Amino acid sequence: MEPFRGVDYFGIDSLFSEQELLVRRTARQFVEERCMPLIRDCFREARFPSELIPEMGRLGFLGANLEGYGCAGMNNVEYGLVMQELERGDSGLRSFASVQGALVMYPILTFGAEEQKQRWLPRLAAGEAVGCFGLTEPDFGSNPAGMRTRARRDGDCWVLNGEKTWITNGTASDIAVVWARTDDGIRGFLVEKGTPGFTSSDIHGKWSMRASVTSSLSFSDCRVRAEDQLPGAKGLKSALMCLTQARYGIGWGAIGAAMDCYETARRYTLIRKQFDDRPIASHQLVQEKLAWMITEITKAQLLAVQAGRLKDRGKADPAQVSMLKRNNVAIALECARLSRDLLGANGITDEYPIMRHLCNLETVKTYEGTDHIHLLVIGERVTGIPAYK
Ligand SMILES: Cc1cc2nc3c(=O)[nH]c(=O)nc-3n(C[C@H](O)[C@H](O)[C@H](O)COP(=O)(O)OP(=O)(O)OC[C@H]3O[C@@H](n4cnc5c(N)ncnc54)[C@H](O)[C@@H]3O)c2cc1C
Repeated sequence: MEPFRGVDYFGIDSLFSEQELLVRRTARQFVEERCMPLIRDCFREARFPSELIPEMGRLGFLGANLEGYGCAGMNNVEYGLVMQELERGDSGLRSFASVQGALVMYPILTFGAEEQKQRWLPRLAAGEAVGCFGLTEPDFGSNPAGMRTRARRDGDCWVLNGEKTWITNGTASDIAVVWARTDDGIRGFLVEKGTPGFTSSDIHGKWSMRASVTSSLSFSDCRVRAEDQLPGAKGLKSALMCLTQARYGIGWGAIGAAMDCYETARRYTLIRKQFDDRPIASHQLVQEKLAWMITEITKAQLLAVQAGRLKDRGKADPAQVSMLKRNNVAIALECARLSRDLLGANGITDEYPIMRHLCNLETVKTYEGTDHIHLLVIGERVTGIPAYK
């Protein structure tokens, strides 16, 4: 198989610095050499390739855009390109890095006490510890404000009770960032694996994100120390700030999945022949699909670069990140569907990556704010009228 050379219709590489291109090359090589050979079997076996975690740590992919405490301190475009390449490998791999960096390390760095940062960030950055983010509950997904998990103060402790579900990395985690309701509003807590009253179990039977651990967390009179509260996390807004970080990475990641589908279909249609020994790529209806895909991928790339540049200047608005996430995931999903179609029957097998991406992207469309919710965020931004209820 010819190596992947990237997808660049509009000279977008000229928008990247040498350093950004170097980071992308490193991530691309890692995915080619370490992820591609095993990802099909991982997906078949519903297994996350945890053997890749230490290398991701060594390469600086975990908490890549954070500063200090062993983090790589990449700019947001470099970080985005890493996410893009990881998701070209598999959404499960990118999800791991997103959760670890944006949903666990970011809140510890942003809302944590110095002791919490020292204790956790270097190990999480190195891939020596794994974290998860518990916000969603069985009855509260799109509307986490309704959460029922409670934290009650009892002397020097907090006592947690409740259920979280659909939690990436849940059973694989050494530390969980858990959001719970207190008398003072929603707060974040660090709950270590093995804390009495804290249990987790995996969700089975997924047809999507099979190469990713997804779990339920349960808290039954689970006591954590007062110092395990994240002191700077105040209200749901703090949890939503973490989601904005993760959604930004997803906006880039989806481009990677879309590129893999598009490039697989482009190559396939040039080789596959039907009717008069002509490649199917010579038919107008086939070219229309390829043209649609490359156009949408190009627009998605430009959106991502601009979001990254704004983010580096501290000017990326959450409603802009909503547009990035929603658009790029939606077009990636459509690219996967069109590519599947262009491969005919072969498109349904795991000899090609398309069905894997397609199944994964169904999750990516739903998590970190569904497609609908992001449309409502954009709608609120342009009208000033919230329409969630
Ligand atoms: C594989 C996987 C991994 C995940 N990882 C994590 C994780 O690590 N941590 C975590 O906390 N959560 C995680 N999630 C949960 C994810 O964030 C939620 O699934 C998501 O927020 C949607 O919630 P829900 O599934 O309860 O759907 P619901 O909120 O019930 O939504 C169902 C449908 O109703 C629509 N809908 C809901 N409200 C409105 C409205 N006001 N207007 C219009 N349409 C609406 C939605 O758009 C959707 O189409 C994960 C989910 C999956 C599948």
